[in-house]
Amino acid sequence: MRKKLIAANWKMYKTPDLTREFFREFLPLVSGHSRDEIAVCPPDIDLVAAVEAAKGANVAVGGQNVHWKPEGAFTGETSAGMLLALGVKHVIIGHSERRQYFCETDDTVNLRLKAALEAGLTPICCIGEVLEEREAGLTDDVLRRQCVRAFHAISSKKAAKLVVAYEPVWAIGTGKTATPELAVEAHAVIRSEATEIFGEEFASKLRILYGGSVKPENAAALMAQEEIDGALVGGASLDPKSFAAIVKY
Ligand code: PEP
Repeated sequence: MRKKLIAANWKMYKTPDLTREFFREFLPLVSGHSRDEIAVCPPDIDLVAAVEAAKGANVAVGGQNVHWKPEGAFTGETSAGMLLALGVKHVIIGHSERRQYFCETDDTVNLRLKAALEAGLTPICCIGEVLEEREAGLTDDVLRRQCVRAFHAISSKKAAKLVVAYEPVWAIGTGKTATPELAVEAHAVIRSEATEIFGEEFASKLRILYGGSVKPENAAALMAQEEIDGALVGGASLDPKSFAAIVKY
């Protein structure tokens, strides 16, 4: 059995005060909940407030990106060691907004992934096709290519904590959600590529999350699929009640 991971991606929303307010409301709603792993990934500026607010609770805190060098002249970046020093456990890597607006490539995703795994963080590596690729029938090829490049030169032993998020780009922040059937199909392609790269035993344990306009209204149908091992939630994770409703689906 793969334990589901429900992760919040706050993108560039909330201040430290709003972060504390979120946790004050959210934690009582999920206290005692142990079926799923829960992680909240706020902007870096809110990490200290989030870690403090979540202390002793069943909610982990994650970053939204990580650089591959331990330190250096890389303005605006954060290293794995810096995240760990704050008590951060998870990190999102290769989000489509990073790829689309900040020139993130499969190669830099691979570097960031290696650094996160090396440091003992749980990376949530995002992959997914854009609408034109889906419409051209290229989804499987795109997903396989992204996996091959992102996981290049990473051993199954090193990749033990790896989590993949299937995030069809056309479903992110658009209100369009993949049907459970479509998500399951894409997850199966990713798992089959993971089998090629890491072997069957590893692939059978690999958690593959779905992300793209997950809301309380559609979470139950998606999470009921055996192939879907959790969710990466953007917009609907900003409101404590709505995120708690997704965790409890
Ligand atoms: C995301 O940011 O990873 C995401 C899935 O966003 P949304 O839920 O808003 O589509």
